[in-house]
Amino acid sequence: MGYITKAIDADGFVRISFINSRDIVNTAQKIHNTSPVATAALGRTLTITALMGALLKEPTDNMTVYIKGDGPLGGMVTAADGAGMVKGYVYEPLVDLPLKRGKLDVGGAIGKGSLAISRDLGMKEPYVGKVPLVTGEIGEDFTYYFAMSEQTPTAIALGVLVDTDLTAKQAGGFIVQLMPGAGDDVAVKIEENLRELPPVTTLLEEGKTPEEIIEAIAKGFAIKYLDGATYEYRCDCSYEKISRALISLGKEDLMDMIEKDGGAEITCQFCPKVYRLDKEELTALYESAKK
Ligand SMILES: [Zn+2]
Repeated sequence: MGYITKAIDADGFVRISFINSRDIVNTAQKIHNTSPVATAALGRTLTITALMGALLKEPTDNMTVYIKGDGPLGGMVTAADGAGMVKGYVYEPLVDLPLKRGKLDVGGAIGKGSLAISRDLGMKEPYVGKVPLVTGEIGEDFTYYFAMSEQTPTAIALGVLVDTDLTAKQAGGFIVQLMPGAGDDVAVKIEENLRELPPVTTLLEEGKTPEEIIEAIAKGFAIKYLDGATYEYRCDCSYEKISRALISLGKEDLMDMIEKDGGAEITCQFCPKVYRLDKEELTALYESAKK
């Protein structure tokens, strides 16, 4: 579980959320058996996905992040809802790359590509925003997404420190957003504070609390804390959802599974659950696909 601490300044110009996401990242690492660079890439993305999930208005709202790159990691998909669920996977979890300047080379693993975010806010169509990747290091890419897609001045910092036993020793991140009406002086002051702030993993290694980190970001501002949120890695997959996905494949593919394989075994991409469908169950789906 990861707790999201939220705060806002007294004038309502600066909104800050911080999460210690170590448990979330470690659950993902265990499920997908990710290499260090894949853990860092997925961990950073899960961290920002949880932070954005906690900004959704309704518990039933949900969002999905699609990152595609031409690097050896290929890309990843993460998702969150407004009620504390976050999950994700990478295309190539075992990717191994040499360190770059002593650091895990997340940008090299992802390469050039795109970041797309689909938000289902209970409207007819989901809202989709898409931008090219800036560095593939995730934090910069999401910052750019907010600038281009949402016109909200946003600063994001994400960090995952992978231990020698492959687990995340530290993981966390924050999102800082300027609300409408915030003047240039507010932006300048926050930028100054952020420049002085050490990386997130350093702050966590030093044992800084979420409140201490938020107060360092908002130095010079009077802040108040809002209700926080608890996020955990879990999956909402179900037999019904898998069935719907199979129906959407179309009747030819379903007939293939019935005739050639005599059934289907489908592993959820987000969690270790395996769904086995026999010939009769597939035939029933085939009948629905025909309609
Ligand atoms: Zn699942």
